[in-house]
Amino acid sequence: MYSDQRFRALIEHSSDAISLLTPDGTVTYASPSTRRVTGYSAEELVGRNGFTLLHPEDLEHVRQQFTTLLDQPGHSITVEGRFRHADGTWRWVEATLTNLLDDPAVGAVVCNYHDITERKQGQERRRYSEERYRALVEQAGVGMFVTDLQGHFVEVNEVGCQLCGYSREALLTMHIRDLVPEEGQAGLPAALERLRAGGVKQSQWRMKCKDGSLLPVGTTANHLSTGHLLVIVRDISDRIHAEEERARLLVSEQAARAEADARAAELSATFEAMTEGVIVCDRAGEIRYTNPAYRSLVALEKDADPSLLLLDNRFEWLALRDMEGRPIPKEQIASQRVLRGERLSNTNSMDFMCRTRKGEDLTLNASGAPIRDATGQIVGGVVVFRDVTGRYRLEQQLRFNERKLRSLAESNILGMAVADLDGRIYDINDWFVHLLGYSKDELLSESFNWSQLVPQSNQEALERVMKTILSTGALLPSEGEYLRKDGSRVPVLAAGTLLDRERHLMLGVILDMSEQKAAERRKQEFLSMVSHELRTPLTSILGLIELALMQIDLRPRSLPPEAEVLLGQIEKLLKRADRQVEIETRLVEELLEVTRLELHTFELSLHPENLVTIVQETVANQQQAARTRHIELVLPPDELVPVIADAGRVGQVLTNYLANALKYAPVDQPVSVHLEVAGSSARVSVRDQGMGLTAEQQQRVWERFYQVAAPGHQGPDGGLGLGLAIAKAIVEQHQGQVGVESAPGQGSTFWFTLPLATGPIQA
Ligand code: ADP
Repeated sequence: MYSDQRFRALIEHSSDAISLLTPDGTVTYASPSTRRVTGYSAEELVGRNGFTLLHPEDLEHVRQQFTTLLDQPGHSITVEGRFRHADGTWRWVEATLTNLLDDPAVGAVVCNYHDITERKQGQERRRYSEERYRALVEQAGVGMFVTDLQGHFVEVNEVGCQLCGYSREALLTMHIRDLVPEEGQAGLPAALERLRAGGVKQSQWRMKCKDGSLLPVGTTANHLSTGHLLVIVRDISDRIHAEEERARLLVSEQAARAEADARAAELSATFEAMTEGVIVCDRAGEIRYTNPAYRSLVALEKDADPSLLLLDNRFEWLALRDMEGRPIPKEQIASQRVLRGERLSNTNSMDFMCRTRKGEDLTLNASGAPIRDATGQIVGGVVVFRDVTGRYRLEQQLRFNERKLRSLAESNILGMAVADLDGRIYDINDWFVHLLGYSKDELLSESFNWSQLVPQSNQEALERVMKTILSTGALLPSEGEYLRKDGSRVPVLAAGTLLDRERHLMLGVILDMSEQKAAERRKQEFLSMVSHELRTPLTSILGLIELALMQIDLRPRSLPPEAEVLLGQIEKLLKRADRQVEIETRLVEELLEVTRLELHTFELSLHPENLVTIVQETVANQQQAARTRHIELVLPPDELVPVIADAGRVGQVLTNYLANALKYAPVDQPVSVHLEVAGSSARVSVRDQGMGLTAEQQQRVWERFYQVAAPGHQGPDGGLGLGLAIAKAIVEQHQGQVGVESAPGQGSTFWFTLPLATGPIQA
């Protein structure tokens, strides 16, 4: 225990200010150093409550500590708090309070305190700068790793943790090598060594992260004065990516360029190989490229002056003209049109004429398109030229041909129609329409059939005609009749040809024969009249000759011999005249008959007959007339060959055949007559050993007035060439057929058939 003086001496010389406090904080004593600390004199302080001088923020805390201390006699506590200085500023003080209330010598709480404001402020400054530093470190955006000189982590910032994926706690147990991948391990000790020696190391490497991935990083490491190593780590994956991207772009750009080069090579190879001429011009219309085909098209010499191709020059010598021959203005030439943005293709291509370097005229077809850059600006044009000179000529020829055909169709000369073989009409010219008396629409309508134009009796013939066209591709001109709408008939000459075998389309051409027929009819009528008129005097001449002969026969027996001689001569002459008149009569008869045939006034008197009888009688008559000749008759085993016939007319046919055979065959050769039955018809033929007939003659002998104009074919009596025509008409009116088989020098066989009668017949 201190004596009062010693205690006083102690506290009065203490650097600390000392106060004695009652349990409620009232100051009962203040040491002299109080003024130094508080600015108040001891006297000023004594009697005041110490708590009233405390900072409101510290009051609660200090009072609490103080109260606690009151229960603990002899104990001490140290508290800090702000105290208002006499000059009005706040001062930090540190106070040690000792509870000596129970000490009878003191009986107070002893408070030793001193000013710690400076220390506090220093602390504050440190805390502040540390905070700033920390904020800097945390917000730097770079990872900061601090290691000891061996490489153990001692500090790391948040970014550092995020970069490697480890927590701070985990990192602080790790070594720098844990973040270095396999390939960097070997170099690590040397690197640490260099850092310890004071070097600064900058490097790029891949940091091994917690998840095993390797993060591209750039690091700067150096030795800190604190004896640590600082490693600053930046994530450079974006930069690496960017670099990789750039490299990739570079590669793809190179590939694109190579591709473009290849395309260009392909294009030029294509142009070189093309048979069409190609030019490529720049935006001014000047030619930048021509392919070989173009140069040969316009006959440009190999070593030609390049200036020939300049727009103005080439425009000069090419002498461009349109298809009508009018000069084409410069702004209308293909390259200029293309440069204005026009596309020349298919329907919009351009045909024009031009002159080659050799002065030849060419017809060209030009197509082309502008060349645009990426922004769509026209920077040039391509034009392709095709030589269509040949095609043009052909087209002109075709047009000419078509015109010829059209003018024929449109002329008022003949009828033309296109129809199929089923009878549908697809095209018919006006003349034909007019002839038929229908309207064009009626004829072209689907419901109209060609066969309506053909009279009933000719329908079979029409079918035959169709078959002929199909098999031979053509119908030779043949006569026929068409029915007009009003039912009248018009005679025509028709010919046709198959246009399209697949679709069975035929082109028919017809001529109106009305005029000719009328003329012929007039001729026939005239002939008929003439022969009729001739026959009458002939009959009387014949009668008169007969009468004269009869009178010579009946002459008196007592005539003088000279008169007898004279009469004999007259009789001879009369008989010759008689024969001539007979021939004349027969000719006139034939003429009459043929005109009757033509005028359809030829009538048959049909009866059931036995053809055997007719043939036998006719042969007998002829044999009688030509006794010196040998006529062989071959009959069928049946004695009855029934026919419905005009016996006289059938006899006339056979007589004609036989007379011709006897007339045109050598007298020493036999003539044979055959009657056969085959199927449903009977066939009568007359065979001779004469000159025979050519194929053409065989056809023509059936025409009226036709006579073979060759030696050996002229009969002694000078016929008219009507016999066979009449025979044909007679047989056909019996529904039979006629024909001849022959070859020159091989004789002839003239035949006719008649249908067999089916009903009963008398022998
Ligand atoms: P025509 O005998 O009165 O001249 P036809 O009509 O009977 O008239 O005969 C026509 C022509 O056919 C004859 O002129 C003759 O040249 C030729 N002809 C007819 N029959 C024969 C035959 N059997 N052999 C050779 N020619 C014949």
